Amino acid sequence: MNAPLVPPPGIASCPVPRRILMGPGPSDMPPRVVAALGHPAIGHLDPDFVRMMEEIKLLLRYAFQTNNALTFAVSGPGSVGMETCFVNLVEPGDKVIVCRNGVFGGRMIENVQRFGGTAVIVEDAWGEPVDPQKVAEALAAHPDARAVAFVHAETSTGAQSDAATLIGLARAKGALAIVDTVTSLGGTPVLADAWGADAIYSGSQKCLSCVPGLAPVTFSARAVERVKARKGKVPSWFMDLGLVLEYWSAPGGKRTYHHTAPVNSLFALHESLVMLKDEGLENAWARHRLHHEALKAGFETLGLQFVVREDARLPQLNAVHVPAGIDEAGVRKQLLEKFNLEIGAGLGPLAGKVWRFGLMGYSARRENVELCLRALADVLSGMGQAKDQRAALAAAESVYARPVR
Ligand SMILES: *Cc1c(COP(=O)(O)O)cnc(C)c1O
Repeated sequence: MNAPLVPPPGIASCPVPRRILMGPGPSDMPPRVVAALGHPAIGHLDPDFVRMMEEIKLLLRYAFQTNNALTFAVSGPGSVGMETCFVNLVEPGDKVIVCRNGVFGGRMIENVQRFGGTAVIVEDAWGEPVDPQKVAEALAAHPDARAVAFVHAETSTGAQSDAATLIGLARAKGALAIVDTVTSLGGTPVLADAWGADAIYSGSQKCLSCVPGLAPVTFSARAVERVKARKGKVPSWFMDLGLVLEYWSAPGGKRTYHHTAPVNSLFALHESLVMLKDEGLENAWARHRLHHEALKAGFETLGLQFVVREDARLPQLNAVHVPAGIDEAGVRKQLLEKFNLEIGAGLGPLAGKVWRFGLMGYSARRENVELCLRALADVLSGMGQAKDQRAALAAAESVYARPVR
């Protein structure tokens, strides 16, 4: 017999560096969430686990501000939450108006097309919010559109769109509204019921500061009707809502095995949602805004310009132009190597031109803002663009010293 195949020598347990995460996600996990992740596993049909899942559904209804019965966490990253919405709600031949003002709107178009739908694309420039006027025109030109899909918080640019208005336009024409809130949930208001949204997906690793790999979702009664009225089977077995729900919310509590739930990740999600409830949604939104204001004040002294106009800016995702003559990737490399600080690069047309500073969830803290300003001033000064570190920190300090409104 031949010797078994073996890996190359020298591989051992992996030392994980300690980083501060101020990019587009994942965000820093609070110690309580890390601890929850480390519990010994229990069975995914254990009565104590089932009780915890019921609490996750209640806590997610709070996070999404909805009474939708169909609210749970899909096993998979935000992208699986996205696909779950589209694979269940789009049937071959359906026309869907999709708004694209960055990376993630482009992925929605892909989803519609791969599931046999026709995407009517409403384009806005990267860095702009979705223009409701264009959506109204698209709805008027395509009265047969079955749904309108858009990204509430475009992580690739830091722009926030007016979800209430866009959903109102869709609903007035009888179209479903599908909304990406991966970066907004827990960071800025997501008001599923007040908006009248039909399908919303999010992610665990952005403003919820949980481990990556879970996608909170919520579906309205109208969306459930649409799924039930499908002519054909949902083309994905794993994401078929009808099948998943026999595990997540079987009538009479008679849960049946669908797939093995990621039990430890769900421990962590439960803990992060308890933290959100204890802090209070409004306080969480205010905290993101406060640290954004402080970071912005510091950035202004460093001469950095935001990509997005002030009234459409996401507090949790700060995209700024790279100053002329600066090595974009070199700065990120030094921030990581000298300060253990991770920030994000630009994507698509913004690649090489912007940096993206996340202030998501547990990463939205004063010590992170101060570290970021100190580190950035240091690195830029080292590259020959003298920056006043003290002035940057003093500007942030003056925001923190403001009386609480
Ligand atoms: C991060 C992100 C996603 C994808 O989430 P993954 O967990 O990376 O799959 C989708 N939409 C937006 C707006 C995001 O920021």
